Amino acid sequence: MFDYLIVGAGFAGSVLAERLASQLNKKVLIIDKRPHIAGNAFDHYNESGILVHKYGPHIFHTNSREVFEYLSQFTAWRPYEHRVLASVDGQLVPMPINLDTINKLYGLSLTSFEVDDFFKSVAEEVSPVRTSEDVVVSKVGRELYEKFFRNYTRKQWGMDPSELDKSVTSRVPVRTNRDDRYFTDTFQAMPLHGFTSMFEKLLAHPNIKIMLNTDYHDILDMIPFREMIYTGPVDEYFDFRYGKLPYRSLEFKHETLDKPVHLPVAVVNYPNEHAYTRITEFKYLTGQEHTKTSVVYEYPQAEGDPYYPVPRPENAALYNQYKKLADATPGVHFVGRLATYKYYNMDQVVAQALTLFKKLSVQEEPALLDGAKLKSNGFKQVDVGVNLGKGGYGNAI
Ligand code: FAD
Ligand code: UDP
Repeated sequence: MFDYLIVGAGFAGSVLAERLASQLNKKVLIIDKRPHIAGNAFDHYNESGILVHKYGPHIFHTNSREVFEYLSQFTAWRPYEHRVLASVDGQLVPMPINLDTINKLYGLSLTSFEVDDFFKSVAEEVSPVRTSEDVVVSKVGRELYEKFFRNYTRKQWGMDPSELDKSVTSRVPVRTNRDDRYFTDTFQAMPLHGFTSMFEKLLAHPNIKIMLNTDYHDILDMIPFREMIYTGPVDEYFDFRYGKLPYRSLEFKHETLDKPVHLPVAVVNYPNEHAYTRITEFKYLTGQEHTKTSVVYEYPQAEGDPYYPVPRPENAALYNQYKKLADATPGVHFVGRLATYKYYNMDQVVAQALTLFKKLSVQEEPALLDGAKLKSNGFKQVDVGVNLGKGGYGNAI
């Protein structure tokens, strides 16, 4: 008899498995229909011996010390700051748009103050700012919106930015300085030996059993368990009772090239050319040295594995119907990007899982309410400082 059956061995499922096993001594079975652990963060050495991310580039960044310290129990880190260039008007320019982007694009030599004035002169007044188009044109005007955002977004999401919640393009800031980092979070680092190695350590507890290549439908009647943690798509759990929740998919085309370096930075975005949105060169992310190099092209698709929830008001409304069902399903806990239909980064999913663990630990052992009795293994369970719903893009749906 297992205390918990956990469906999905990505961040949400694996963090909960680790916490329940190590802190509450629960017996956990974690299953995944894929042939590997780590969910979409899975990485592996390809046929040439280069570490690649099977499901597209995953860069870890967070402002939460708690999330970072929690994961630090399972990995050492390699400091890494992510940089992206966009191919626009025949040039490669920094993305997010910053002072250098504007100077290079238009052959100018503006200062920070002058570029701020420039943005103000081209920005359109939009009120209220509701959509992914509104966000950008209200900051940098229509021309830059069309060069950098409109076509990329149409390609990525199969719809115009005016049809998407503002939270989507709000993920990418606009700067008047020369900071060309993609993220400005306090903690920016990659697991030194890769994500899969970190997941192996997360799941190494003797109370945790792992079953791969297994859809939960196939074992439900065979394996006795007390409670379930579900991290797959929420609409699928309820047999699409209210209809399908839209997810955007991607096809990844991996390639290994017989040269040590291919791109000038880790990622080049192609808003206006090609069927793919971006190319990523993995060695920048991993720091690996190798005579060859591996890249991945991302081709957006309507059908396929569900990768992105689509932030739109009608989808939020449909999700809320499923959420009511989920809340009314005793003994099953829904957590993660697919089960809560949120465009969450890895750190936000870890924070969400740690928050659910806190709730479960009080349920399991009410004496823990004083918060003092969790076993110590170097991590104190505290409120995680990651935005899970108020403001920012956590609020999208
Ligand atoms: P998942 O990792 O999707 O895990 C869910 C698991 O459940 C899957 O392995 C699935 O196989 C399994 N499952 C589903 N249904 C069943 C079933 N019926 N039976 C058994 N198993 C089932 N985040 C960042 O922070 N930084 C990035 O740079 C970044 N880049 C990204 C790039 C891409 C292309 C994508 C798609 C996402 C990116 N993310 C990034 C987001 C990150 O992938 C997610 O936040 C994180 O992986 C979500 O973890 P999860 O456990 O919720 O879901
Ligand atoms: N985006 C864009 N042009 C770019 C980069 C991003 O239009 O060069 C928009 C696009 O809609 C994208 C969103 O901003 O889906 C969020 O970008 P991010 O890089 O965060 O996407 P992710 O890494 O999650 O795919």
